[in-house]
Amino acid sequence: MIKYPSSLQNLIECFKKLPGVGERTAERYALSFLSLDEDSINIFAQSMKDVNVKIRRCNKCNNYSEDELCEVCKDKSRDQKTICVVEEPKSIISFERAGAFQGVYHVLDGLISPSDGINPDDINLSSLVKRIENDQIEEVIIAVRPCAEGEITAMYIAKKLEPYQVKVTKIAYGIPLGADMGYMDPLTLEISLENRQKLS
Ligand SMILES: [Zn+2]
Repeated sequence: MIKYPSSLQNLIECFKKLPGVGERTAERYALSFLSLDEDSINIFAQSMKDVNVKIRRCNKCNNYSEDELCEVCKDKSRDQKTICVVEEPKSIISFERAGAFQGVYHVLDGLISPSDGINPDDINLSSLVKRIENDQIEEVIIAVRPCAEGEITAMYIAKKLEPYQVKVTKIAYGIPLGADMGYMDPLTLEISLENRQKLS
């Protein structure tokens, strides 16, 4: 069987590593590189390297960052005493697009899921508790996906923070069940935030 020349075949194999990209899509992507000019290709290659080398997690909130602290944590004009707890960094981008939240964030990197063997120790909860202890936090708003794991996680956080002088709320769910928080429209997010409910 005749294959593509090896450089082209290698590129196809690279694209196949991406989520949702099968053989045919990978082939289409790789072939499209043949018509890009050299500058575009250099920028593309450099961007991929930069992401690998420069992107780390914020020391405070676990958001994506190129420095020790992310842009949100660095911003003194934000309300540093209100923390919005999210499942993953892309939820932060959703909230920022909506422009409805002026506080700071905390990224859990997952939800508690006993059936999948994901325990409280497997997500970034201890660093959240540390922030409550050290940073005089007044309110924690839980904004995770509306699903069984999200509910368990919210209840666990509320219980865990009971001993502290901090209000714990959960955003209201006009958000459809099972929705991906990373792709919520701004208005839905804003309303969900405004109508948040007190947990403890
Ligand atoms: Zn941060």
